Amino acid sequence: MKSVTVVGSGIVGLTSAIVLQENGSTVTIVAKEHYSKTLSSKVGAIWFPFEIEPAKKANKWAALSYQRYQEEAKNGNDVSFIPFLTAYTSESNTKWTEQLPAGAVRNATPEELPKGIEKAFVSNVPLMEPLKYLPFLFNRFIENGGHFEKSGIASLKEMSSLNSLVVNCTGLGAKELCNDNELIPMRGQILRCAKLNTPSFAEPTKKGALTYVINRSGDSIIGGTDYENNWNVNIEKSDTDLILSRFESLGLDNKTPQILEEMVGLRPKRKSVRFEFDQSFNNIFHNYGHGGAGFTVAWGCAIELSEILSKT
Ligand SMILES: Cc1cc2nc3c(=O)[nH]c(=O)nc-3n(C[C@H](O)[C@H](O)[C@H](O)COP(=O)(O)OP(=O)(O)OC[C@H]3O[C@@H](n4cnc5c(N)ncnc54)[C@H](O)[C@@H]3O)c2cc1C
Repeated sequence: MKSVTVVGSGIVGLTSAIVLQENGSTVTIVAKEHYSKTLSSKVGAIWFPFEIEPAKKANKWAALSYQRYQEEAKNGNDVSFIPFLTAYTSESNTKWTEQLPAGAVRNATPEELPKGIEKAFVSNVPLMEPLKYLPFLFNRFIENGGHFEKSGIASLKEMSSLNSLVVNCTGLGAKELCNDNELIPMRGQILRCAKLNTPSFAEPTKKGALTYVINRSGDSIIGGTDYENNWNVNIEKSDTDLILSRFESLGLDNKTPQILEEMVGLRPKRKSVRFEFDQSFNNIFHNYGHGGAGFTVAWGCAIELSEILSKT
């Protein structure tokens, strides 16, 4: 039985830890924040490969994750499936639709299209509500014999000394730890609102004008912003106004959304997800930089990671 330390308690760290446990490893998670304080706890979260590279690998991981979420939903594990309308243009990469099972995606009818959107898919996708799903995953990790330690790691050298095998799932924290110039924050401001009477949808085709709605069991999320290389974690009123005006321009609901909470998160965006052993500390495997799609690909990455580590 292998002993592995996973650094990070967000969606990527928790899923990595659980798949490693399922494949026979004993796992400790070390993280400077409890799962409830991570970026992962603050977001939508829906299955959609947004702002993640390389597309081919992301699609493969997304497909594996989709299958795992189907199992989670079947077992009553805080995952549901909802219809999601996604705008596209002739320039969009729509390969992600090929990852869905037969019958799970179709073209939207003209009546379904919000104002100003010419083409869209309607797909049946997993919805993970982080405030339910992350506690569920953490409890599963503990029930599987996992141990959690709240502690910050200052360097790769310190990380390497934690165990004979260490998985680095520190998200944006990896920027400093790995001195990684390719990792940048992509700032997302979102509005948590009283439940809306609109479909869940995303209009991701216009850079700098991202608009989406995710309807959850007790509220709705209206997004958002996608500002690259922006470290600002303050709520900006100008962004709230922009998000509301973009939403209203789609003509979906004539009522003004009732805002319950404004939130900001920094997506860990990288030219390419870092998914490899470290060159200098060869007991560290990096699994970070999942951009706007950490929930979408986490299980797929965890499954491939576990296969790689089983060969060491
Ligand atoms: C507004 C917004 C909406 C989004 N919506 C979606 C969505 O609908 N679907 C989707 O798939 N994705 C979505 N995302 C993206 C998703 O949130 C991220 O890709 C995902 O949360 C990244 O998870 P992670 O586990 O890598 O990082 P995090 O959740 O940030 O976790 C990182 C962990 O590493 C720990 N850590 C960091 N540095 C150190 C250190 N030095 N020492 C010890 N521990 C450390 C932290 O404490 C934390 O536990 C959204 C993002 C934003 C901002």
